[in-house]
Amino acid sequence: MTSLAHFEAVAGSLKLPGEAVIGGKTVASVSGKTFANVTPRNGRILNQVAQCDAADVDAAVASARTAFETGPWRQLHYRDKKLVLFKFAELMERDAESLAVVESLDVGKPITNALKGDIPGSINTLRYYAEALDKIYGEVGPGTPSRFSFAVHEPLGVVGAIVPWNFPLLMAMWKIAPALAMGNSVILKPAEQSPLTALKIGELALEAGLPAGVLNIVPGFGAEAGKALALHNDVDMIAFTGSGAVGKLLMQYSGQSNLKRVSLELGGKSPHIIFDDCPDLERAATEAAWGVFYNSGQVCTAGSRLLVQAGIADEFFDRLIAVARRIVAGDPLEPATTSGAMVSEEQMQTALRYIETAKQEGGALALGGSRTRVDSGGFYVEPTVFDRVTPENTIAREEVFGPVLAVTRFKEPNDAIRIANDTSYGLAAGLWTKDITLAHRAAREIRAGLVWINGWDSCDITMPFGGFKQSGFGRDRSLHALYKYADLKSVSITL
Ligand code: NAD
Repeated sequence: MTSLAHFEAVAGSLKLPGEAVIGGKTVASVSGKTFANVTPRNGRILNQVAQCDAADVDAAVASARTAFETGPWRQLHYRDKKLVLFKFAELMERDAESLAVVESLDVGKPITNALKGDIPGSINTLRYYAEALDKIYGEVGPGTPSRFSFAVHEPLGVVGAIVPWNFPLLMAMWKIAPALAMGNSVILKPAEQSPLTALKIGELALEAGLPAGVLNIVPGFGAEAGKALALHNDVDMIAFTGSGAVGKLLMQYSGQSNLKRVSLELGGKSPHIIFDDCPDLERAATEAAWGVFYNSGQVCTAGSRLLVQAGIADEFFDRLIAVARRIVAGDPLEPATTSGAMVSEEQMQTALRYIETAKQEGGALALGGSRTRVDSGGFYVEPTVFDRVTPENTIAREEVFGPVLAVTRFKEPNDAIRIANDTSYGLAAGLWTKDITLAHRAAREIRAGLVWINGWDSCDITMPFGGFKQSGFGRDRSLHALYKYADLKSVSITL
């Protein structure tokens, strides 16, 4: 069953979605325009997708607003709301294999990762917020003998979600599940590189019974559909995951329009610190390698700065290289593949440019450094490691968003903490030590929204996810994300 031939057969049998989902229907763009959706697996066109612009966004916002005001979702009994979201999750589970194949083709990610990570993670997210929606309580104020006061969480109204291409379904679900659970209407703008699973779940939501207009999907380009959504005067919030440059634009758009709320999950340059007393060098080396090479490095929390203490640096480095050598880029639809393609030719060229810069700046290339699988026509880059990178070097400062690791050696724990914090980002950090005092001190002193001790990326939907500094603000995951999509209203009754 689980062979390349099987997944190619699934891919061949799929009818790929290409229309927007607006007002409870799948529709072509108002202009009739489409764009070619390319698979990085082999550089070929997968299908044509509706190229939405301001006219489509207007239609989606109007339908979302009508749904919100008339209340078929907002006012639905919480018991029934929950049933609809559970049904939605069940339909995603029914179609899990085809969703995984679509995600693998659209992004170039290994099918096994999509099957074991992206799709179940998205379903789990939806169930988590479905289960939470009848546990939203307000507060009762102290009041007086002549006044009774309480505060309630109310949905914001129309939420625009703009997401990137690296985990298209999961990033979308981190936003739409809590926003829907809170009773909002949502308009999702998927990334132009990977719109397919978003379109597919727009259809599944309707099949599950989500009322028309409550979840709309507008595929298209950032400068057209994304900008129109963010500038719209009838959108109450933009929840965004993507680059810092676009995050800054979204705040401008908010100021230029209706001061809509903005939450930003932006990039990172996450440090992964290995202290001399690391409890398990082999496991740390494995996690350091996968912490940066998973999804071909296209992960906002990628541990792209590896800081290794001098006492163990040589041994650790050898182990790391041994693990990384075993990561070989392969066909995304081959189940044994652990490293697939980069999402686009543009993203691949960006990674290759950073590799050239690192060489010019004196980084010692220890592994990889080139494009690979060129004959496939796809966009593959070898796992690449640079040793003896200094904190001033470009690859130690800028987000590559590709399979490129910068290794820096340090002497004292305080040096590591200083280097870790010497960045404009603050998304994630990891550290390995047996010393509980050092672990605790470093965790508190590192300015990052996520800190992992003795295990990279060791958290799940129950914990808040987001950044400090220019990695953004606002949190995805956990109950904090649920309340992000609500306003707090104080009501006082004079008795
Ligand atoms: P991007 O910012 O270019 O695009 C993200 C989304 O914004 C896309 O849907 C795009 O169409 C849209 N967009 C682009 N220009 C826009 C505009 N002017 N107005 C409105 N929308 C616009 O980022 P990307 O290249 O797709 O993704 C990579 C970046 O995302 C990296 O910097 C990465 O670190 C970050 N990222 C962060 C997280 C996180 O949770 N913090 C997760 C994944 C990716």
